[in-house]
Amino acid sequence: MKNLLFSILFLGFFANSQTFNQNYANVSNLVSQTNINSYLQEFEDLGVKTTGSTANNNAYTWLKNKYLSFGYSENDITKDNFIYNGQTTSNLILTKQGTKYPNIYIIICGHYDTITGKGTNDNGSGVSVILEVARLLKNINTEYSIKFINFSGEEQGLLGSAHYVSNVVNATNPKMNIRLVLNIDEVGGIKGQTNDTVTCERDESSNPSANNAASNTFTQQLMNCVTLYSTLKTNLSYAYASDYMPFQANGEIITGLFEYNETPYAHTENDTYSNLDPVYIYNIAKATVGAVQHFAVVAQTLDTCTPKDIVMSFRFYPNPAKDHLQLEFLNSKTQRFTFTITDFEGKTLSKTENQTRIDISSLAKGIYLGTFKVDDQVITKKIMVE
Ligand SMILES: [Zn+2]
Repeated sequence: MKNLLFSILFLGFFANSQTFNQNYANVSNLVSQTNINSYLQEFEDLGVKTTGSTANNNAYTWLKNKYLSFGYSENDITKDNFIYNGQTTSNLILTKQGTKYPNIYIIICGHYDTITGKGTNDNGSGVSVILEVARLLKNINTEYSIKFINFSGEEQGLLGSAHYVSNVVNATNPKMNIRLVLNIDEVGGIKGQTNDTVTCERDESSNPSANNAASNTFTQQLMNCVTLYSTLKTNLSYAYASDYMPFQANGEIITGLFEYNETPYAHTENDTYSNLDPVYIYNIAKATVGAVQHFAVVAQTLDTCTPKDIVMSFRFYPNPAKDHLQLEFLNSKTQRFTFTITDFEGKTLSKTENQTRIDISSLAKGIYLGTFKVDDQVITKKIMVE
């Protein structure tokens, strides 16, 4: 909901403090253009989601059902209600617990309320990215906890985020420990234009300023992740007029994503699917999936088991393999499972259910990923085929 006043084209002179992580890229490559398109169209079909309206509350329910469909439970979701204009509206908070620092949070957020129009860019685009990140990180353990937050009341002056900071962040005892707030607002681009750059926003506010240096560090990392995990280029600018600002004022460390080609249709009836660039949003989602894995620090690496009993007991042989793989479970109660073989682009090459002997004779020589899944437990290991 804002105008880009000044920006500096980021030229990439900064030293890479992080390197490419193939595991992060494997997950990032699973972002689905089909899903992005569906989220955007469903969001649009919900109508004009003015804070407190029926459409606004229907959007809340739609969001909640999306998270449940990804495998999250009711217990993972909390509702933070507030009153606007005599009507109740709600922020939705989905929490995913970290393995090493369960009480330290990465917040990835964006508003879902709209004004005047259906808001498919502002901010159905950010909503779609957050949904796709939540879907893909569902079964990935991270060291830090993650909160996915869909705010309401943004268009009336950041009401939802301000309410959350004062009534939840500061009302938690001890105060909620936030590692980083990543806000995503209006990342839809403009149909028919070359949308190949995203603006990454750092805190340049002097009130307070003590959190600025850390924001700069994280924003540099965000830019790095954009380059590593998507085809987009980056532009560095400053944060303003969106839901990260109440966090900023509270002394938290913030960063953000905003479109570089700025839509002329925000807050109008023409902010629709037909006027944005869904492929741009797909690329933003890929970048964000990479960045959130980096910020929340993925705990599980290839060939490292998740600390859960069933998965711990899984192995396969031979490795390297040639014509077939034999799956084996050391604690043998496991009967219902799937085993999927993908390449490093995330393309599924084989998927079997409850089979312990897997025919791989059609696979070319190379390295693949084998993902074994029981219930919500997942482990991925490298398969060498010779
Ligand atoms: Zn917005």
